[in-house]
Amino acid sequence: MSIPHFRYIAPQTLEEAIGLLRMAKESGKRARVLAGGTDLMVQLRAHEITPDVVIDISGIKRLSRVDRMGNEIQIGPLVTHASLATLDLIREYAGVLSEAARTVGSPQIRNLGTLGGNIVNASPAADTIPALVILDARLALRGPEGERILPITDFFKGPYQTVIEKDELLTGVIIPLPSLNGRAVFLKLARRKAVAIARMNLACMLYYDRQKEIFEWVRLCVGSSTPKPVRMTQAEKVLVGNAYTDDVLQEAGRAAAEQMVALSGFRSSTAYKKPVVGDLVIRAVHLAVEKG
Ligand SMILES: Cc1cc2nc3c(=O)[nH]c(=O)nc-3n(C[C@H](O)[C@H](O)[C@H](O)COP(=O)(O)OP(=O)(O)OC[C@H]3O[C@@H](n4cnc5c(N)ncnc54)[C@H](O)[C@@H]3O)c2cc1C
Repeated sequence: MSIPHFRYIAPQTLEEAIGLLRMAKESGKRARVLAGGTDLMVQLRAHEITPDVVIDISGIKRLSRVDRMGNEIQIGPLVTHASLATLDLIREYAGVLSEAARTVGSPQIRNLGTLGGNIVNASPAADTIPALVILDARLALRGPEGERILPITDFFKGPYQTVIEKDELLTGVIIPLPSLNGRAVFLKLARRKAVAIARMNLACMLYYDRQKEIFEWVRLCVGSSTPKPVRMTQAEKVLVGNAYTDDVLQEAGRAAAEQMVALSGFRSSTAYKKPVVGDLVIRAVHLAVEKG
């Protein structure tokens, strides 16, 4: 199928890109940002979107940087999944994000697809989002009025819906360095092993004190299961302060399943997802504890 006609512009600076977005907004034109194009091209081909102008930001070099700044790492939105999977800085300080990026699509998709595109597309199945939620990531958005920074969980309104304004760009992902040496795991369930969108995914990070025999802290986030990405706080509460036993793990699995149903309501997929989310939580906690 042909793709709709649109004007294509490739600004080389952030200021130019934001100026173009502002002009499009003021003149009532539909503008779309293009990063790696792995989501956008599919949507254009399917005529799901029909923009007047496509603004290709892939040439804006400063959006591809990864920097450590004090107690944070700042990741540019154009950093690809392939880079997230291999860069030492990310592997060391945000290992769960590396693990998540490694599961995305195929080598071709990982070489083109970007972190920013994965976030702004806001698919419930996006693999980096649960990892970013448990890393307490914040997002920097920039528009004509300046910059605003918000927690990643405030960015999503629902499936494929976010709070980004028409004249704003996602310009950075900020991750605080973890204060404790936690162990992290990313799990993904899909219909097949390669080039598969997640039916469910889960990011888990925790610290189990082997001397005291208790979970000191736990963060869990399940993707593709709730209208917006959220921490599985009920399961986290069950684990924290308790020992690594079968009973505690089973109880945490039940709590996660109940929280998922409470948030998403009873749907046709619930009969499958409810037991599976519990099992995923148990498996992830088990793997994370066994890591260290
Ligand atoms: C075959 C295939 C397999 C895939 N497998 C997976 C998978 O396993 N896991 C997964 O999570 N995803 C998967 N995807 C989806 C896709 O590859 C990812 O979501 C990717 O990260 C999107 O990044 P991109 O740079 O290509 O985004 P684009 O397609 O360029 O953009 C996506 C959306 O984000 C907007 N956007 C992009 N960057 C910015 C920015 N900086 N500021 C504002 N708006 C912006 C665009 O306007 C567009 O609406 C797959 C896609 C395909 C085609």
